[in-house]
Amino acid sequence: MKSVRENIAQIEQKIGGKATLIAVTKTKPVPLLLEAYDAGCRDFGENRVQEMAEKQPQLPAGIRWHQIGHLQTNKVKYIAPFVALIHSVDSLSLLTEINKQAAKHGRVIDCLLQIFIAEEETKFGLSPDEARVLIQRQELEALANVRLVGLMGLATNTDNEAQVRQEFRGLKQLYDELSLIKRANVAFSQLSMGMSGDYELAIAEGSTMVRVGSAIFGSRL
Ligand SMILES: *Cc1c(COP(=O)(O)O)cnc(C)c1O
Repeated sequence: MKSVRENIAQIEQKIGGKATLIAVTKTKPVPLLLEAYDAGCRDFGENRVQEMAEKQPQLPAGIRWHQIGHLQTNKVKYIAPFVALIHSVDSLSLLTEINKQAAKHGRVIDCLLQIFIAEEETKFGLSPDEARVLIQRQELEALANVRLVGLMGLATNTDNEAQVRQEFRGLKQLYDELSLIKRANVAFSQLSMGMSGDYELAIAEGSTMVRVGSAIFGSRL
């Protein structure tokens, strides 16, 4: 089996500077995160709030922590002091809570809207129309401590490359459309799409951030 360092080097080579590699470290122990850090990774993604809040103080400062999993309103407070980017915003009420907690810490927290692009029923996210409505809501005006900087999506878990490509392409189109919107706290620059099995496809379709776990650290089973 290849080392974490070798896997990261290989993936970074494939990315070729076109996107940011987020090392998805959920369920992985701190020593493995340190291996990734030593190999140059500075962006780490977790999907559970508690786990991220526990690991963060055990790792060097300067790491950018990404909340990539579904976020419950009552848990925002645990990550608000340090989180760099929340990929999974899917409601105005969640955004309002992030704004409130960010203000307590004198921060502006960057967020992505999670868009539902897969066929599977279990995935969270907004429909494209729901995102169009949310981004124009009057209430956004008052949320000075959050910034909407782009979109995130998960493609269907399938071997059908054409389908995955289609889903990524659709997300990129929505991204391009919403990028034209200029409001005080809306400024798109990030499109988070692609995981271990489909990050090369995602980059070809315009991803700026790939979230890769098992291809770096091995399977989570
Ligand atoms: C777990 C997870 C990933 C990484 O999945 P891999 O297939 O292990 O690369 C990416 N994005 C989200 C939202 C995840 O929960």
